[in-house]
Amino acid sequence: MQFSIETSSPFNPKGGRAATIAPTDCVIVPVYAQRKLGPAGQAVDALLGGALIAALARHDIAEALNSVLIVPGNDQVARVLLIAAAKAESADPAGQSAAAQTPRRRGKAASVTGPELHRIAEGAVIAPVSERAFSELSRAAFRAANTTGAKKLLSLLAEVPVGVERARPLAWNLQAQVLSAHDATYRFDRLRSTTEPRHEVGAIALAVPPADATAATLALRRAQATAMGVTLARDLGNLPGNYCTPTVLANEAKALAKRHGLKVQVLERKQMQALQMGSLLAVAQGSDEPPKLIVLEWRGGGRSEAPIALVGKGVTFDSGGISLKGGEGMDEMKFDMSGAGAVLGTLAAIASMQLPINVVGVIPATENMPSGRAVKPGDVVTSMSGKTIEILNTDAEGRLILCDALTYVARFEPSAVIDLATLTGACVIALGHHHSGLFANTDGLAADLLAAGRDTLDTCWRMPLDDEYQEQLKSPFADMANIGGRPAGSVTAACFLARFAKGYQWAHLDIAGTAWKSGAAKGSTGRPVPMLTQFLVERADRNSTPAHAAKSPATAAKRGPKPPSRGPVRAPRDGA
Ligand SMILES: [Zn+2]
Repeated sequence: MQFSIETSSPFNPKGGRAATIAPTDCVIVPVYAQRKLGPAGQAVDALLGGALIAALARHDIAEALNSVLIVPGNDQVARVLLIAAAKAESADPAGQSAAAQTPRRRGKAASVTGPELHRIAEGAVIAPVSERAFSELSRAAFRAANTTGAKKLLSLLAEVPVGVERARPLAWNLQAQVLSAHDATYRFDRLRSTTEPRHEVGAIALAVPPADATAATLALRRAQATAMGVTLARDLGNLPGNYCTPTVLANEAKALAKRHGLKVQVLERKQMQALQMGSLLAVAQGSDEPPKLIVLEWRGGGRSEAPIALVGKGVTFDSGGISLKGGEGMDEMKFDMSGAGAVLGTLAAIASMQLPINVVGVIPATENMPSGRAVKPGDVVTSMSGKTIEILNTDAEGRLILCDALTYVARFEPSAVIDLATLTGACVIALGHHHSGLFANTDGLAADLLAAGRDTLDTCWRMPLDDEYQEQLKSPFADMANIGGRPAGSVTAACFLARFAKGYQWAHLDIAGTAWKSGAAKGSTGRPVPMLTQFLVERADRNSTPAHAAKSPATAAKRGPKPPSRGPVRAPRDGA
């Protein structure tokens, strides 16, 4: 799917009411409360001799939100896809008299997107929609467009003001459109012998006012990189265990490194033995597939800048081991490498953006299988840190491979470490499928991840990590047990990991409830690639904004010596 920014459009003020539109198969036009068109829609309507307003006056579009109506067009615009951005009969701020509009109300309704769109919306007083509503609207629009014969689309959805509590910039609107378009058309059929031919939109042009073109182009580049990362994570997650082995994950990492210019290293069993990763190797010993420890490095930042480390659980199939799982739904344990997939997806996204930041990705990859060699309940193993672990349940294997990866990652002297793992069913019981569980030993890191989640609708919820819970991990035979019983199962899992993450700022994301969906829509979601990518973009922006240092000279002075050089000057990036 090709995306582009289109400035020769109804947003172009030079076009006046009769807009100039490059020939296209389909224009997506939002319809607001009371079946009204915004300025961009009115311009398209003028181009079609009033066909849109006539159809709306006949109530041809249904009442419900996200209802769609396709109106035939002309030689220039083959068809128009009208989509209801508000319920037809909901309140209509535009219909009120100008005197009735308090300045505050006008200001709130008009506070949208780019500077030029801001001006347009201010004139029209279009009520803003919530972030989630806009995301749903975009998905519905692109899904519907996919069912027409259109190959080339022009979307006017940038006109819709987003953010009821806080106005979202144009970059937000565009990223939501790109991610929704990808989601609406995603399919995984590489393992079918025949695929039913499906019509697909080939090119999507996102209309913006000419004044916003530069910011929009940068935002589009970032959005496309994020979408590519999400798709990679979804594809890897959906691949079954007989296709996606630790070796295949390692090869995928190598291919990714080649494609995007990352450094890659794959540690084999022998090297893990030399590093005394007794906990990771204990999980791997029951499988015929060799384990891999994958290490990827993106060095986009300054030479002396400490990296952020992402550690992803890569259990390519989790049978539970000797503590074998029940048969029902066991196929979904192919998704137990979703943390690894998200690390690869996030690195692909930031490398493709050429993000000026240093990031290390570490993936312990193995199967968890029962066999004559498999680790048994009651076995005591020695982790890389030297601490001993009594394995009471071999199905609590994620923490056993992560603890050695967390010890290993310290050698990169990271500024922060974030691990992501489909770790516990208990987290699904606690939070369901909406929020990922967030645990952190540092408030600042937690706050940044929570904010990045809200910004991308890929949310997490902070959970406790109090020392009191550590009591549950006591073992009469070793330094600790690998499980803490049923109460607060996701918390004691995080507490286990916390013991190995004492030397740095650390956060743990339990994505067991969010990385994939069950039921009819079974499949990987690609979460939390959007959240992590956003987090890293924010960190990179913060690092590279000179204003940041200038704004707080006191803090800069306190830090003492001159900050490390940022290396070569990079292309300007979107500050949104
Ligand atoms: Zn398990």
